[in-house]
Amino acid sequence: MTSDFEIVIVGGGPAGLTAGIYAARARRRTVLLEKHGTGGQMALTWEVENYPGIEKISGYDLGQRMEQQARAFGLEIRNVEVTGVATAGGVHRVSTTEGELTCRALVVAAGARSNRLGVPGEAELTGRGVSYCATCDGAFYQGVPVAVVGGGDTALEEALFVTRFASRVYLVHRRGEFRGTKLLQERIAAEPKIEPVLGAIVERVEGADAVTGLALKNVTTGAASRLAVEGVFIFVGTTPNTEFLKGFLPLDAKGFIETTPNLETAVPGVFAAGDARAKVLRQISTAVGEGALAATMADHYLSK
Ligand code: NAP
Repeated sequence: MTSDFEIVIVGGGPAGLTAGIYAARARRRTVLLEKHGTGGQMALTWEVENYPGIEKISGYDLGQRMEQQARAFGLEIRNVEVTGVATAGGVHRVSTTEGELTCRALVVAAGARSNRLGVPGEAELTGRGVSYCATCDGAFYQGVPVAVVGGGDTALEEALFVTRFASRVYLVHRRGEFRGTKLLQERIAAEPKIEPVLGAIVERVEGADAVTGLALKNVTTGAASRLAVEGVFIFVGTTPNTEFLKGFLPLDAKGFIETTPNLETAVPGVFAAGDARAKVLRQISTAVGEGALAATMADHYLSK
């Protein structure tokens, strides 16, 4: 059976763009499909300082460089959303918002998105004080107090970032210790504008037309308290963008894609890379390594 492409890559973050560089250099007829702009979650990161060989760069700029590099090798990038995948006779049919494409090898690098807390006031006040991107919205909170919710790397990094603008940053975490990297914890401890609020969960985001405060509950004592803030930045983990794969690939309980160490999925010719994959470490550096391996495995599969 013929197909439109040899390789289709789903997702234009660091995993997908790296897969694109490798697939294009392998001279495979390849297209990368991305529903938003390229860069993925990386593009929302103000500063990347743990990508080897580059001491400091904005996530957006790093994504732009990866895209330029991939295009220079001949990668085609289309702005469409993938809505489903099916396989028959060794050909994968990829449904998109602009029609169907077929390919013989598929690299899924669809990434992940921010979780919601799911508390009253959150959805109503999103865009009016509630935000999931400090890089995008931090500058709106010049000289006013804000809260950052979460205890992972993203919450710690973003809390440090908003100290450039906010008068005070309450870092609200549900446990007694942060999950994020020790180096970031040291910086949090040394930053006078940041006040950790540990062992507390958010009960409600307060405000009518804009955020005015955060209602908290102490997890040990049950005592209620309130923080007067004008902004709430929420970083409580991520959910993989794998809804379009339900019924096609086996996913774990949280929706992440299970693979072999060589990034093969349960469907021959379908590989997965980056944050959508079930794994321990989600970094730009791990995403690019997996993108390279997934495209190489796809190339080997096509040569068989
Ligand atoms: P994460 O590591 O999964 O951390 C999520 C945080 O949110 C945890 O502290 C968790 O608390 C808390 N949380 C989850 N659900 C909650 C709820 N319902 N209410 C209150 N708190 C809740 O997520 P992330 O920080 O977004 O990071 C995602 C991945 O990207 C990680 O692998 C991370 O290392 C990586 N990353 C790396 C960098 C870097 O290297 N510079 C930067 C950003 C992200 P518990 O701790 O109690 O579970």
